[in-house]
Amino acid sequence: MKALVLFSGGLDSSTCLGMAVHKYGAENVVALSVYYGQKHDKEIKASERIAAYYGVEQRTLDLAKIFEGSDCTLLKSSDEEIPKESYAEQLGGSSGKPVSTYVPFRNGLFLASAASIALSCGCGVIYYGAHSDDAAGNAYPDCSEGFNNAMNEAVFIGSGEQLKIEAPFVSLTKADVVKKGVELGVPFELTWSCYEGGDKPCGVCATCRDRIAAFEASGLIDPLMKGE
Ligand SMILES: [Zn+2]
Repeated sequence: MKALVLFSGGLDSSTCLGMAVHKYGAENVVALSVYYGQKHDKEIKASERIAAYYGVEQRTLDLAKIFEGSDCTLLKSSDEEIPKESYAEQLGGSSGKPVSTYVPFRNGLFLASAASIALSCGCGVIYYGAHSDDAAGNAYPDCSEGFNNAMNEAVFIGSGEQLKIEAPFVSLTKADVVKKGVELGVPFELTWSCYEGGDKPCGVCATCRDRIAAFEASGLIDPLMKGE
């Protein structure tokens, strides 16, 4: 059995990659990294380092054209600044609208693309690293359990029952993901999560805040924040 891992180079997908390599062996794992018009290429560069670390085949895909015209603040197409508040502060306890860093239907698009590639590569499973903190308050509705179940069913039926989606963290928190990654020896020092493209993580964007807190919950310091 071969596995395809949707792989951004961040903490969650790197832990997914570690899990897939542990279960199937590096020779049976394909890492798929997608460029979608991000303002910087830090994550993509991180993904290359981690794929090399694990010795897995890496495929890349450029879907930036699909997001042309989007006002998502993560993308080059937006001049707006990336918020410096936590997701909870951004959502303000309100309404069903996602945060400004939500990339329109990104996980739907990526999983559908991954399904086509997985079938072409002879993979029977797609791993991706959605977790419950990102789905909380509907910040990223395409990280929710309901969305994952629906996509899994669509992929299973649409592939003629050849392909499934594994989202091992979908009901877990980011702190749980850190714990799992530590167990597996995932090289967190090679990962990149920050929405900004600086030399060091900014420490104040929502994903930096979540990441630092997830390490702290395990009594650890994020290796990228050491010396701060
Ligand atoms: Zn940041």
